[in-house]
Amino acid sequence: MEVTDPVCGMTLDRDRAAATVERDGWLHFFCSDECHRLFEAQPDRFVGRTPKTKNSSADSERAKRDDHV
Ligand SMILES: [Zn+2]
Repeated sequence: MEVTDPVCGMTLDRDRAAATVERDGWLHFFCSDECHRLFEAQPDRFVGRTPKTKNSSADSERAKRDDHV
């Protein structure tokens, strides 16, 4: 399963993550110990930066259009 490193924004396979952190019920995966360290230093800077659902705005736009047809 692919996940996004919230620090550097890179996509990685969760099985290959160098570090994992659980915060507020969300799991965050890191490509390297460096990203993990940056996150631990300032978690609030990175939490919420990555979208929780992929393409949610595009999907709702499409749903709206479909409703009108
Ligand atoms: Zn990273």
